[in-house]
Amino acid sequence: MLRWSIATVCMGGTLEVKLAAAARAGFRTIEIFENDLTFFSGKPREVRAMADDLGLEIVGLQPMRDFEGMPEPMRARNFDRAQRKFDLMDELGTKMLCICSNVAEESLGDVARSADDLAELADLAAQRGFRIGFEALAWGRHVHDWMQAWELVKRADRSNLGIVLDSFHIFARKNPIAPIEQIPGDRIALVQVADAPGILMDSMSLSRHHRCFPGQGDWPITDFLDLCINTGYRGAISLEIFNDQFRGAPAASIARDGMRSLQLCGEELDARRAAKGTAPLAISRALPAAPHVRGLEFIEFVTSGAHSPRLVAELEGLGFKRVAKHRSKDVDLFRQNDINIVVNREQDGFAHSFYLVHGTSVCALALRLDKPQQAIDRANALGAPTYYGRIGPGEALIPAVAGVENSLLYFMKDGEDSTWDQDFIFLDDGTSHGPLTRVDHLNNVVRRSEFLSWITFYQSVLGFTEEPQVELADPYGAFYSRVVRAEGGVVRIPLNIADGGSTAVSRFIENFGGGGVQQIALATDDLFAFVERAKAAGVEFLDIPDNYYEDLSARYDLEPDLIERMRRLDILYDRHKGGEFFHIYTRMFDQRFFFEILERRNYDLFGAANTPVRLAAQAAEQDAASRERALYERD
Ligand code: MG
Repeated sequence: MLRWSIATVCMGGTLEVKLAAAARAGFRTIEIFENDLTFFSGKPREVRAMADDLGLEIVGLQPMRDFEGMPEPMRARNFDRAQRKFDLMDELGTKMLCICSNVAEESLGDVARSADDLAELADLAAQRGFRIGFEALAWGRHVHDWMQAWELVKRADRSNLGIVLDSFHIFARKNPIAPIEQIPGDRIALVQVADAPGILMDSMSLSRHHRCFPGQGDWPITDFLDLCINTGYRGAISLEIFNDQFRGAPAASIARDGMRSLQLCGEELDARRAAKGTAPLAISRALPAAPHVRGLEFIEFVTSGAHSPRLVAELEGLGFKRVAKHRSKDVDLFRQNDINIVVNREQDGFAHSFYLVHGTSVCALALRLDKPQQAIDRANALGAPTYYGRIGPGEALIPAVAGVENSLLYFMKDGEDSTWDQDFIFLDDGTSHGPLTRVDHLNNVVRRSEFLSWITFYQSVLGFTEEPQVELADPYGAFYSRVVRAEGGVVRIPLNIADGGSTAVSRFIENFGGGGVQQIALATDDLFAFVERAKAAGVEFLDIPDNYYEDLSARYDLEPDLIERMRRLDILYDRHKGGEFFHIYTRMFDQRFFFEILERRNYDLFGAANTPVRLAAQAAEQDAASRERALYERD
């Protein structure tokens, strides 16, 4: 039977913790990595008992290394070693031993001899009712492509010997995958999956540091699985991810992310089959479909005390108008066209706790979706529990799930404006016109260790897709950005991480006490008019050095008057495929977040070309602020 599985090597912690995490995430099958047994203080049979208690089947023990094609006396020693592994398997209650292709210098690489070794081993295994799986490592000395491994398995020709197909080694070697379909399904011992980013690197480094769950990288994992399944293979499909970041994260969240990524693979496989009129595999659970996110209903800020009037002044300077106050809470609604910003000054409850940790910041976002309850059911099934806030009588109960750093993501029904009337008293008709027309995107800084996890969250829980990762220069290092977006781009969230040091992203995490919304990009149809007005209203924008405009005039055939106007107003410019982009940044609010105001003219990028100048200007601003602080503290 097809079933999802996870190798213990994917997770960090003790074996007990790993088994419990896998079971809790919904796995019923695991692969035991031998090191985990070696580091386990109890007996192998205790591992079996633990697995039994958790309802986990141990699909295999792996890996046995450097086995095939060795000269004597190493060959004989290897067979002794295999017998000891068989004893271990008896205790563990598992039936399969996975051998990975030989990397030893001494290995001979003689195909006939290697096939004979595998045949002899399979015969020994058969006496004890075991199976052998043979896998090509991308860095194997003689066998490094799956076709070579298959050649040995075919030659050995034993019914209890099969090939292990691991997407990592196959894609790392750029092996063709279409011929996989020709392998008889019963000759596949195990299918392993790992994704990786499409970067050029030797396969061993890529394997150790960048393997990731399906969907987190750039490889066509579903194509690979489709072919494996078309052979008639009906065994375990097991995540095998070596990644130091994964081992540094809690095992429970890694196992949960693994299951989320496999759930998506299963859904995609069934969608393909449905399109071809084939019966579903039902390897993933039958969950409500991922929601259709239609837009962003509101952004909620939390603030308190003296910070509150500053935030309100900033919002009003940007053209927002207070249109309503909450019936029972110290919460106001600011609006401009269709953009809703909620300002929460409550002194208890979720928002205030968020304020105590993070200061004035975005504590929640509300998404408009087609079927909120269905989305909540899906989120719950994928390990994202529902949060319900405290409400007053007659007020709307809006369900939420936890987002980055335990901020909230509310799920609201698209097209139901009555929710606002239930909770808010409008000061007049509730409309507010102004130059800002919509939320363009929201940049979210995330901890590096959680980056892939949030990508999987947005993909699996919210049905977002992701764009390829981009790397940008920061004056104090590098930063990486990957955009997740709802269908049609109605909600776009670049997720940003950095390597550490004093980069803007790292400073944000330090100042903010974790990840969060760092940038709120709002669109206007006339940026120049907007900036003139906002400056007059007291909004302070990021100072852009004059050299930027010198460079601009050298790069583009822009009217000198236009460049001069941009320079005077601190407006940045980019151009792509005939489209133009004008944008500007407000100064940072308490070193935590800022607004970007932008005007798109047939331009669909994010102005990344100007990110280095923005980061340098923000770093200069922060350096000035800390110099000021240092002087003040000295006095
Ligand atoms: Mg493998």
